[in-house]
Amino acid sequence: MSNVLVLNAGSSSLKYQLVDPETGEASAKGLIERVGTDKGHLKHESGDHKDERDVEVPDHSAAVTVMQDAMERGGTPLTPDSVIAVGHRVVHGGRNFTEPTLIDDGVESEIDRVAVLAPLHNPAGLAGIRSARKVFPDLPHVAVFDTAFFSDLPAAAATYAIDRDLAREHAIRRYGFHGTSHEYVSQQVSSLLGRDDLKQIVLHLGNGASISAVDSGRAVETSMGLTPLEGLVMGTRSGDLDPGILLHLSRVADLDTQGLDDLLNKKSGIYGLGGHRDFRDLKQAKDDGDEAATLAFDVYVHRLVKYVGAYAAVLGGLDAITFTAGVGENSPTIRAAALEQLGFLGVRLDEQKNSSRDGGARRIDDGAGRVAVLVVPTNEEWAIARHAAEVAVR
Ligand code: ADP
Repeated sequence: MSNVLVLNAGSSSLKYQLVDPETGEASAKGLIERVGTDKGHLKHESGDHKDERDVEVPDHSAAVTVMQDAMERGGTPLTPDSVIAVGHRVVHGGRNFTEPTLIDDGVESEIDRVAVLAPLHNPAGLAGIRSARKVFPDLPHVAVFDTAFFSDLPAAAATYAIDRDLAREHAIRRYGFHGTSHEYVSQQVSSLLGRDDLKQIVLHLGNGASISAVDSGRAVETSMGLTPLEGLVMGTRSGDLDPGILLHLSRVADLDTQGLDDLLNKKSGIYGLGGHRDFRDLKQAKDDGDEAATLAFDVYVHRLVKYVGAYAAVLGGLDAITFTAGVGENSPTIRAAALEQLGFLGVRLDEQKNSSRDGGARRIDDGAGRVAVLVVPTNEEWAIARHAAEVAVR
Protein backbone atom coordinates (compact mmCIF):
# COMPACT_ATOMS: atom_id res chain seq x y z
CA MET A 1 0.00 0.00 0.00
CA SER A 2 1.25 3.47 -0.73
CA ASN A 3 0.38 5.75 2.13
CA VAL A 4 1.42 9.26 3.04
CA LEU A 5 2.51 10.05 6.58
CA VAL A 6 0.91 13.39 7.45
CA LEU A 7 2.54 15.38 10.28
CA ASN A 8 1.10 18.42 12.01
CA ALA A 9 3.60 19.69 14.59
CA GLY A 10 2.33 22.26 17.10
CA SER A 11 4.45 24.07 19.67
CA SER A 12 3.80 21.34 22.27
CA SER A 13 2.20 18.58 20.23
CA LEU A 14 2.60 16.26 17.27
CA LYS A 15 -0.47 15.04 15.39
CA TYR A 16 0.02 12.36 12.76
CA GLN A 17 -1.94 10.18 10.36
CA LEU A 18 -1.05 7.49 7.89
CA VAL A 19 -3.37 8.25 4.98
CA ASP A 20 -4.17 6.59 1.67
CA PRO A 21 -4.09 9.59 -0.71
CA GLU A 22 -6.54 7.91 -3.11
CA THR A 23 -9.33 7.20 -0.62
CA GLY A 24 -8.52 9.36 2.40
CA GLU A 25 -8.67 6.28 4.62
CA ALA A 26 -6.39 6.58 7.67
CA SER A 27 -4.85 3.24 8.64
CA ALA A 28 -3.24 4.78 11.75
CA LYS A 29 -3.40 8.04 13.61
CA GLY A 30 -2.28 9.58 16.83
CA LEU A 31 -1.52 12.58 18.96
CA ILE A 32 1.43 13.21 21.23
CA GLU A 33 0.86 16.00 23.74
CA ARG A 34 3.13 17.97 26.05
CA VAL A 35 6.08 17.69 23.66
CA GLY A 36 9.03 19.49 25.25
CA THR A 37 8.58 17.76 28.62
CA ASP A 38 9.35 14.36 30.12
CA LYS A 39 5.64 14.02 30.96
CA GLY A 40 4.28 13.64 27.45
CA HIS A 41 1.24 11.61 26.53
CA LEU A 42 0.59 9.39 23.51
CA LYS A 43 -2.79 8.42 22.06
CA HIS A 44 -2.44 6.13 19.07
CA GLU A 45 -4.80 3.89 17.13
CA SER A 46 -4.51 1.71 14.09
CA GLY A 47 -7.67 -0.27 13.35
CA ASP A 48 -8.74 -1.98 16.58
CA HIS A 49 -5.30 -1.55 18.14
CA LYS A 50 -5.26 1.25 20.73
CA ASP A 51 -2.14 2.47 22.48
CA GLU A 52 -2.34 5.15 25.18
CA ARG A 53 0.48 5.88 27.61
CA ASP A 54 2.79 8.49 29.12
CA VAL A 55 5.97 9.07 27.15
CA GLU A 56 9.16 11.08 27.54
CA VAL A 57 9.29 13.65 24.74
CA PRO A 58 11.86 16.35 25.53
CA ASP A 59 11.62 17.61 21.92
CA HIS A 60 9.98 16.98 18.53
CA SER A 61 12.71 14.49 17.53
CA ALA A 62 11.78 12.32 20.50
CA ALA A 63 8.12 12.63 19.54
CA VAL A 64 8.84 11.41 15.99
CA THR A 65 10.67 8.40 17.46
CA VAL A 66 7.73 7.68 19.79
CA MET A 67 5.39 7.82 16.78
CA GLN A 68 7.64 5.47 14.81
CA ASP A 69 7.61 2.99 17.68
CA ALA A 70 3.81 3.25 18.14
CA MET A 71 3.32 2.57 14.40
CA GLU A 72 5.54 -0.49 14.64
CA ARG A 73 3.67 -1.84 17.68
CA GLY A 74 0.34 -1.21 15.93
CA GLY A 75 1.26 -3.26 12.88
CA THR A 76 1.73 -0.29 10.51
CA PRO A 77 5.53 0.11 10.45
CA LEU A 78 6.81 3.13 8.55
CA THR A 79 9.01 1.69 5.80
CA PRO A 80 9.91 2.98 2.33
CA ASP A 81 7.73 0.12 0.96
CA SER A 82 4.60 1.31 2.75
CA VAL A 83 5.10 5.09 2.78
CA ILE A 84 5.58 7.14 -0.39
CA ALA A 85 5.99 10.55 1.19
CA VAL A 86 5.76 12.62 4.36
CA GLY A 87 3.39 15.61 4.17
CA HIS A 88 4.04 18.42 6.64
CA ARG A 89 1.48 21.03 7.56
CA VAL A 90 3.20 24.42 7.65
CA VAL A 91 1.13 27.37 8.81
CA HIS A 92 2.81 30.31 7.05
CA GLY A 93 4.27 30.20 3.55
CA GLY A 94 5.09 33.90 3.32
CA ARG A 95 5.31 35.48 -0.14
CA ASN A 96 7.33 32.75 -1.81
CA PHE A 97 5.55 29.49 -1.03
CA THR A 98 2.41 29.48 -3.14
CA GLU A 99 2.03 25.72 -3.58
CA PRO A 100 3.00 22.41 -1.94
CA THR A 101 6.79 22.21 -2.05
CA LEU A 102 9.34 19.39 -1.95
CA ILE A 103 11.57 20.09 1.04
CA ASP A 104 15.34 20.39 0.74
CA ASP A 105 17.80 22.31 2.91
CA GLY A 106 17.05 25.55 1.05
CA VAL A 107 13.30 25.19 1.58
CA GLU A 108 13.93 24.46 5.26
CA SER A 109 15.91 27.71 5.62
CA GLU A 110 13.23 29.69 3.80
CA ILE A 111 10.50 28.32 6.15
CA ASP A 112 12.76 29.39 9.00
CA ARG A 113 13.05 32.89 7.51
CA VAL A 114 9.26 33.16 7.17
CA ALA A 115 8.92 32.32 10.90
CA VAL A 116 9.18 36.05 11.68
CA LEU A 117 5.64 36.34 10.26
CA ALA A 118 4.31 33.42 12.33
CA PRO A 119 6.41 33.13 15.49
CA LEU A 120 3.73 31.08 17.27
CA HIS A 121 3.42 28.48 14.51
CA ASN A 122 6.27 28.09 12.01
CA PRO A 123 9.04 27.13 14.46
CA ALA A 124 7.02 24.07 15.52
CA GLY A 125 6.35 23.05 11.93
CA LEU A 126 10.03 23.40 11.21
CA ALA A 127 10.99 21.29 14.24
CA GLY A 128 8.67 18.58 12.91
CA ILE A 129 10.27 18.78 9.45
CA ARG A 130 13.84 18.65 10.77
CA SER A 131 13.14 15.71 13.08
CA ALA A 132 11.23 13.70 10.46
CA ARG A 133 13.86 14.29 7.76
CA LYS A 134 16.48 12.86 10.12
CA VAL A 135 14.40 9.77 10.95
CA PHE A 136 13.17 9.21 7.34
CA PRO A 137 16.03 10.54 5.18
CA ASP A 138 15.10 8.42 2.16
CA LEU A 139 11.49 9.60 1.85
CA PRO A 140 10.38 12.72 -0.01
CA HIS A 141 9.12 15.36 2.45
CA VAL A 142 6.55 17.87 1.20
CA ALA A 143 5.50 21.11 2.92
CA VAL A 144 1.83 22.01 2.51
CA PHE A 145 1.14 25.62 3.47
CA ASP A 146 -2.01 26.92 5.16
CA THR A 147 -1.60 30.15 3.23
CA ALA A 148 -1.12 28.68 -0.28
CA PHE A 149 -4.77 28.63 -1.36
CA PHE A 150 -4.91 32.40 -0.77
CA SER A 151 -1.63 33.33 -2.49
CA ASP A 152 -3.59 34.36 -5.59
CA LEU A 153 -6.07 36.69 -3.84
CA PRO A 154 -6.88 39.74 -5.97
CA ALA A 155 -4.52 42.59 -5.01
CA ALA A 156 -7.41 44.75 -3.82
CA ALA A 157 -8.33 42.05 -1.27
CA ALA A 158 -4.76 41.24 -0.22
CA THR A 159 -3.55 44.79 0.34
CA TYR A 160 -3.74 46.73 3.62
CA ALA A 161 -4.13 50.48 3.33
CA ILE A 162 -0.89 51.47 5.05
CA ASP A 163 2.33 53.03 3.79
CA ARG A 164 3.18 50.88 0.79
CA ASP A 165 6.99 51.00 1.16
CA LEU A 166 6.81 49.87 4.77
CA ALA A 167 4.35 47.12 3.82
CA ARG A 168 6.64 45.91 1.05
CA GLU A 169 9.73 45.96 3.27
CA HIS A 170 8.05 43.83 5.93
CA ALA A 171 5.97 41.59 3.62
CA ILE A 172 2.73 42.90 5.10
CA ARG A 173 -0.34 41.70 3.20
CA ARG A 174 -3.36 39.46 3.68
CA TYR A 175 -2.07 35.87 3.59
CA GLY A 176 -5.09 34.00 4.97
CA PHE A 177 -4.99 30.68 6.86
CA HIS A 178 -6.91 27.37 7.01
CA GLY A 179 -6.33 27.39 3.23
CA THR A 180 -6.01 23.61 2.98
CA SER A 181 -9.45 23.30 4.58
CA HIS A 182 -11.09 26.05 2.49
CA GLU A 183 -9.67 24.51 -0.68
CA TYR A 184 -10.72 20.96 0.22
CA VAL A 185 -14.23 21.95 1.32
CA SER A 186 -14.92 24.21 -1.67
CA GLN A 187 -13.79 21.42 -4.02
CA GLN A 188 -16.09 18.96 -2.23
CA VAL A 189 -18.99 21.39 -2.67
CA SER A 190 -18.23 21.76 -6.39
CA SER A 191 -18.30 18.02 -6.89
CA LEU A 192 -21.40 17.53 -4.70
CA LEU A 193 -23.31 20.17 -6.68
CA GLY A 194 -21.72 19.11 -9.99
CA ARG A 195 -20.55 22.64 -10.93
CA ASP A 196 -17.12 24.24 -11.07
CA ASP A 197 -18.40 27.80 -11.67
CA LEU A 198 -19.90 28.31 -8.20
CA LYS A 199 -19.82 31.50 -6.13
CA GLN A 200 -19.18 30.03 -2.69
CA ILE A 201 -18.72 31.09 0.90
CA VAL A 202 -16.98 28.64 3.25
CA LEU A 203 -17.19 29.08 7.02
CA HIS A 204 -14.44 27.20 8.85
CA LEU A 205 -15.55 27.47 12.49
CA GLY A 206 -13.24 25.65 14.91
CA ASN A 207 -11.21 27.04 17.80
CA GLY A 208 -9.73 29.28 15.15
CA ALA A 209 -12.35 30.52 12.70
CA SER A 210 -12.18 31.94 9.20
CA ILE A 211 -14.44 32.59 6.24
CA SER A 212 -13.55 32.63 2.57
CA ALA A 213 -15.18 33.65 -0.71
CA VAL A 214 -14.38 31.34 -3.61
CA ASP A 215 -15.33 32.12 -7.20
CA SER A 216 -15.06 29.23 -9.69
CA GLY A 217 -12.40 27.55 -7.53
CA ARG A 218 -10.31 30.70 -6.93
CA ALA A 219 -10.18 32.29 -3.46
CA VAL A 220 -11.11 35.97 -3.82
CA GLU A 221 -11.42 36.98 -0.13
CA THR A 222 -10.65 35.55 3.28
CA SER A 223 -10.99 36.88 6.80
CA MET A 224 -7.62 36.01 8.34
CA GLY A 225 -4.82 38.36 7.43
CA LEU A 226 -1.10 38.75 8.03
CA THR A 227 -1.72 36.55 11.07
CA PRO A 228 -4.58 34.21 12.08
CA LEU A 229 -5.94 36.92 14.38
CA GLU A 230 -8.10 38.93 11.99
CA GLY A 231 -11.74 38.36 11.08
CA LEU A 232 -14.29 36.27 12.92
CA VAL A 233 -14.71 35.96 16.67
CA MET A 234 -12.87 32.79 17.78
CA GLY A 235 -12.44 30.58 20.85
CA THR A 236 -9.87 32.85 22.51
CA ARG A 237 -8.96 35.28 19.69
CA SER A 238 -10.65 38.62 19.14
CA GLY A 239 -10.86 38.72 15.35
CA ASP A 240 -11.48 42.23 13.96
CA LEU A 241 -11.14 45.28 16.14
CA ASP A 242 -10.31 48.93 15.73
CA PRO A 243 -6.47 49.05 15.56
CA GLY A 244 -6.77 52.23 17.61
CA ILE A 245 -7.76 50.04 20.58
CA LEU A 246 -4.22 48.63 20.67
CA LEU A 247 -2.70 52.11 20.68
CA HIS A 248 -5.12 53.23 23.36
CA LEU A 249 -4.51 50.19 25.59
CA SER A 250 -0.75 50.51 25.25
CA ARG A 251 -1.13 54.06 26.59
CA VAL A 252 -3.71 53.60 29.34
CA ALA A 253 -3.53 49.95 30.47
CA ASP A 254 0.22 49.48 30.67
CA LEU A 255 0.17 46.65 28.14
CA ASP A 256 3.37 45.98 26.21
CA THR A 257 3.64 43.92 23.02
CA GLN A 258 3.55 40.63 24.91
CA GLY A 259 0.61 41.78 27.00
CA LEU A 260 -1.36 42.77 23.89
CA ASP A 261 -0.42 39.50 22.20
CA ASP A 262 -1.76 37.52 25.18
CA LEU A 263 -4.90 39.64 25.34
CA LEU A 264 -5.80 39.24 21.66
CA ASN A 265 -4.72 35.61 21.17
CA LYS A 266 -5.52 34.01 24.51
CA LYS A 267 -7.97 36.13 26.51
CA SER A 268 -10.41 37.36 23.90
CA GLY A 269 -13.06 35.81 21.66
CA ILE A 270 -15.96 33.92 23.25
CA TYR A 271 -13.66 33.16 26.19
CA GLY A 272 -12.92 36.80 26.88
CA LEU A 273 -16.56 37.76 26.52
CA GLY A 274 -18.40 34.76 27.91
CA GLY A 275 -15.87 32.88 30.05
CA HIS A 276 -15.91 29.68 27.92
CA ARG A 277 -13.59 28.78 25.09
CA ASP A 278 -15.47 25.63 24.10
CA PHE A 279 -18.60 26.35 22.15
CA ARG A 280 -20.57 23.58 23.87
CA ASP A 281 -19.94 25.17 27.27
CA LEU A 282 -20.82 28.63 25.96
CA LYS A 283 -24.11 27.39 24.55
CA GLN A 284 -24.95 25.61 27.82
CA ALA A 285 -24.28 28.80 29.78
CA LYS A 286 -26.42 30.79 27.33
CA ASP A 287 -29.24 28.24 27.64
CA ASP A 288 -28.96 28.59 31.43
CA GLY A 289 -29.58 32.32 31.07
CA ASP A 290 -26.02 33.61 31.59
CA GLU A 291 -25.99 37.17 30.21
CA ALA A 292 -22.28 37.32 29.40
CA ALA A 293 -22.49 34.03 27.49
CA THR A 294 -25.56 35.27 25.61
CA LEU A 295 -23.77 38.45 24.54
CA ALA A 296 -20.70 36.41 23.46
CA PHE A 297 -22.98 34.21 21.33
CA ASP A 298 -24.69 37.23 19.80
CA VAL A 299 -21.39 38.97 18.98
CA TYR A 300 -20.12 35.74 17.37
CA VAL A 301 -23.24 35.41 15.21
CA HIS A 302 -23.35 39.12 14.31
CA ARG A 303 -19.78 38.93 12.97
CA LEU A 304 -20.65 35.85 10.88
CA VAL A 305 -23.68 37.52 9.35
CA LYS A 306 -21.73 40.70 8.60
CA TYR A 307 -19.00 38.75 6.79
CA VAL A 308 -21.39 36.61 4.77
CA GLY A 309 -23.20 39.73 3.57
CA ALA A 310 -19.92 41.42 2.65
CA TYR A 311 -18.61 38.36 0.83
CA ALA A 312 -21.85 37.92 -1.12
CA ALA A 313 -21.30 41.50 -2.32
CA VAL A 314 -17.64 40.81 -3.19
CA LEU A 315 -18.71 37.72 -5.17
CA GLY A 316 -21.57 39.58 -6.85
CA GLY A 317 -23.94 36.72 -6.07
CA LEU A 318 -24.03 33.52 -4.07
CA ASP A 319 -24.64 29.86 -4.97
CA ALA A 320 -23.52 28.02 -1.83
CA ILE A 321 -22.71 28.56 1.85
CA THR A 322 -20.86 25.74 3.60
CA PHE A 323 -20.11 25.11 7.27
CA THR A 324 -17.08 23.10 8.38
CA ALA A 325 -14.76 22.35 11.38
CA GLY A 326 -15.69 21.65 15.03
CA VAL A 327 -18.40 24.28 15.53
CA GLY A 328 -19.52 24.48 11.89
CA GLU A 329 -19.99 20.72 11.57
CA ASN A 330 -21.53 20.10 14.98
CA SER A 331 -23.62 23.08 16.01
CA PRO A 332 -27.06 23.33 14.37
CA THR A 333 -27.72 26.26 16.70
CA ILE A 334 -24.96 28.42 15.24
CA ARG A 335 -25.91 27.51 11.69
CA ALA A 336 -29.55 28.37 12.29
CA ALA A 337 -28.76 31.62 14.13
CA ALA A 338 -26.49 32.85 11.34
CA LEU A 339 -28.74 31.79 8.47
CA GLU A 340 -31.92 33.12 10.05
CA GLN A 341 -30.76 36.62 9.13
CA LEU A 342 -29.79 35.73 5.57
CA GLY A 343 -33.19 35.01 4.08
CA PHE A 344 -32.88 38.16 1.95
CA LEU A 345 -30.04 36.46 0.03
CA GLY A 346 -32.29 33.52 -0.83
CA VAL A 347 -31.05 31.24 1.96
CA ARG A 348 -33.68 28.79 3.26
CA LEU A 349 -32.72 26.27 5.88
CA ASP A 350 -34.48 22.91 6.32
CA GLU A 351 -34.70 22.67 10.12
CA GLN A 352 -34.87 18.91 10.19
CA LYS A 353 -31.86 18.46 7.93
CA ASN A 354 -29.98 21.07 9.96
CA SER A 355 -30.65 19.21 13.23
CA SER A 356 -29.85 15.76 11.85
CA ARG A 357 -26.81 14.13 13.42
CA ASP A 358 -25.73 12.60 10.09
CA GLY A 359 -21.98 13.21 10.10
CA GLY A 360 -21.33 13.19 6.33
CA ALA A 361 -21.23 15.92 3.70
CA ARG A 362 -24.82 17.02 3.09
CA ARG A 363 -27.20 19.78 2.04
CA ILE A 364 -29.28 21.35 4.78
CA ASP A 365 -31.33 23.88 2.78
CA ASP A 366 -34.94 23.15 1.82
CA GLY A 367 -34.24 23.09 -1.92
CA ALA A 368 -36.56 26.04 -2.63
CA GLY A 369 -34.10 28.90 -2.05
CA ARG A 370 -31.50 30.38 -4.40
CA VAL A 371 -28.53 29.31 -2.26
CA ALA A 372 -27.42 25.77 -1.42
CA VAL A 373 -26.46 25.39 2.25
CA LEU A 374 -24.14 22.52 3.14
CA VAL A 375 -22.24 20.92 5.98
CA VAL A 376 -18.99 19.36 4.80
CA PRO A 377 -16.62 17.74 7.31
CA THR A 378 -13.15 19.08 6.64
CA ASN A 379 -10.30 16.63 6.14
CA GLU A 380 -7.03 18.53 6.09
CA GLU A 381 -5.00 15.34 6.50
CA TRP A 382 -6.42 13.85 3.31
CA ALA A 383 -5.87 17.11 1.43
CA ILE A 384 -2.24 17.23 2.65
CA ALA A 385 -1.75 13.56 1.70
CA ARG A 386 -3.04 14.20 -1.82
CA HIS A 387 -0.80 17.22 -2.30
CA ALA A 388 2.24 15.38 -0.91
CA ALA A 389 1.64 12.35 -3.14
CA GLU A 390 1.30 14.58 -6.22
CA VAL A 391 4.54 16.43 -5.50
CA ALA A 392 6.44 13.27 -4.53
CA VAL A 393 5.78 11.42 -7.79
CA ARG A 394 6.56 14.41 -10.04
P1 ADP B 1 -9.26 23.41 15.88
O1 ADP B 1 -9.40 24.81 15.40
O2 ADP B 1 -8.52 23.28 17.17
O3 ADP B 1 -8.87 22.40 14.82
P2 ADP B 1 -11.86 22.10 15.78
O4 ADP B 1 -12.19 22.33 14.36
O5 ADP B 1 -11.59 20.71 16.24
O6 ADP B 1 -10.73 23.06 16.31
O7 ADP B 1 -13.07 22.70 16.66
C1 ADP B 1 -13.01 22.64 18.05
C2 ADP B 1 -14.23 23.32 18.61
O8 ADP B 1 -15.41 22.73 18.07
C3 ADP B 1 -14.36 23.14 20.11
O9 ADP B 1 -13.78 24.19 20.80
C4 ADP B 1 -15.84 23.14 20.33
O10 ADP B 1 -16.20 24.43 20.76
C5 ADP B 1 -16.46 22.91 18.99
N1 ADP B 1 -17.35 21.73 19.01
C6 ADP B 1 -17.01 20.44 18.95
N2 ADP B 1 -18.11 19.66 19.02
C7 ADP B 1 -19.18 20.50 19.13
C8 ADP B 1 -20.58 20.34 19.27
N3 ADP B 1 -21.15 19.13 19.29
N4 ADP B 1 -21.35 21.45 19.36
C9 ADP B 1 -20.79 22.67 19.34
N5 ADP B 1 -19.48 22.90 19.23
C10 ADP B 1 -18.68 21.83 19.14
